[in-house]
Amino acid sequence: MRSYAEYLQCTNCHKEYDYINPYRTCQECGKVLYVKYDMEKAKKNFDRNSLIGRVSSMWRYYEMMPIKDESNIVSLGEGMTPLLKANNLGKVLNCSDIYIKDEGCNPTGSFKARGLSAAVSRAKELGVKKLTMPSAGNAGGALSLYCARGNLEANVFMPKDAPIANKRESSDAGAKLTLINGLISDAGKISREQALEKGLFDVSTLQEPYRAEGKKTMGYEIAEQLHWDTPDVIIYPTGGGTGLIGIWKAFQEMQELGWIDKPKTRMIAVQSEGCAPIVKAYQSGALNAEMWSDAKTFAAGIRVPSAIGDYLILEAIRESSGTALTVTDVEMVECISMMASHEGIYPAPEGAATLAALKSLLAANKVYPEEKIVLMNTGNAYKYLDMWD
Ligand SMILES: *Cc1c(COP(=O)(O)O)cnc(C)c1O
Ligand SMILES: [Zn+2]
Repeated sequence: MRSYAEYLQCTNCHKEYDYINPYRTCQECGKVLYVKYDMEKAKKNFDRNSLIGRVSSMWRYYEMMPIKDESNIVSLGEGMTPLLKANNLGKVLNCSDIYIKDEGCNPTGSFKARGLSAAVSRAKELGVKKLTMPSAGNAGGALSLYCARGNLEANVFMPKDAPIANKRESSDAGAKLTLINGLISDAGKISREQALEKGLFDVSTLQEPYRAEGKKTMGYEIAEQLHWDTPDVIIYPTGGGTGLIGIWKAFQEMQELGWIDKPKTRMIAVQSEGCAPIVKAYQSGALNAEMWSDAKTFAAGIRVPSAIGDYLILEAIRESSGTALTVTDVEMVECISMMASHEGIYPAPEGAATLAALKSLLAANKVYPEEKIVLMNTGNAYKYLDMWD
């Protein structure tokens, strides 16, 4: 098999970069770089029927993945998670077509596995040996475990109050874990200083081009699992937004490949009332989000006060006629139990937020009962048992 990855391009100023050197963000404007593929060749040679019989992981889409030599892939079997029909919830909410994409089934217990599998694989391919990141939890754990698998060095900077599971998985995996007396933004500052001082490659959210390529595979899978249809609605718990923009990127690519019709999906971002920079920007019509001060929510994955990809998230929401809304921590806790007791799916608080969002969208007539709805459960509850009671 061959990957059609060809070059990198800035999503803002469109400057192009070669596919040989380890770039992170745009050197002109500092914004997010995307991996670009030779779509003409891919369209000719990568037929969706060629997926039949392939590995049941996100690497089944290899031609549209960023790794040039298959032997560099660092995998724990991430992706191809179940898309479960939620009929019991459907009954209660009076909806006929709800699905839950259960990312809690991933190795490391969250969908961060996808991004880090792609980023660690590409780092290995580029000859980068030492990685660093600040993390609220799941990303740091996944980085540590994937680096262990691929024989790379992981440096993780985590706030002291991160879930116990994330601290344990990082240190048990042999990462250099530093606990910070402060917020994720403080951890970020120390990680950046250490990167400069010790020559570490910073794999913070959307500050290198490859984690988004791992996360985009959720979009490929949803379409494949729906027999090459796209849902009417996808509800996504939004922190840095990698998954939301990744799914949107995947839909554009699949349309170019001729695999799907123009996607009809409305991309919906849900955030916590205590940290909602994207919702605020969406509602005010702004193209960028302002930094959210005093961020508060127990859902660590969406406690992200400022996202470098804010303009891309807002663009995907608007282009798809989606929306953005907040839910409270209390609603998340209720919906953890609601999803568990009705469907047997035990979601992370962030995943539960999508159910809380669906309830209020139905009440506000922004989503309709007969629509095909996909809730993204981005992780499993087992990693958070110390975070609520
Ligand atoms: C990181 C994380 C999120 C947010 O993902 P982004 O792609 O950064 O928006 C949501 N849920 C869980 C469980 C996470 O770990
Ligand atoms: Zn640029």
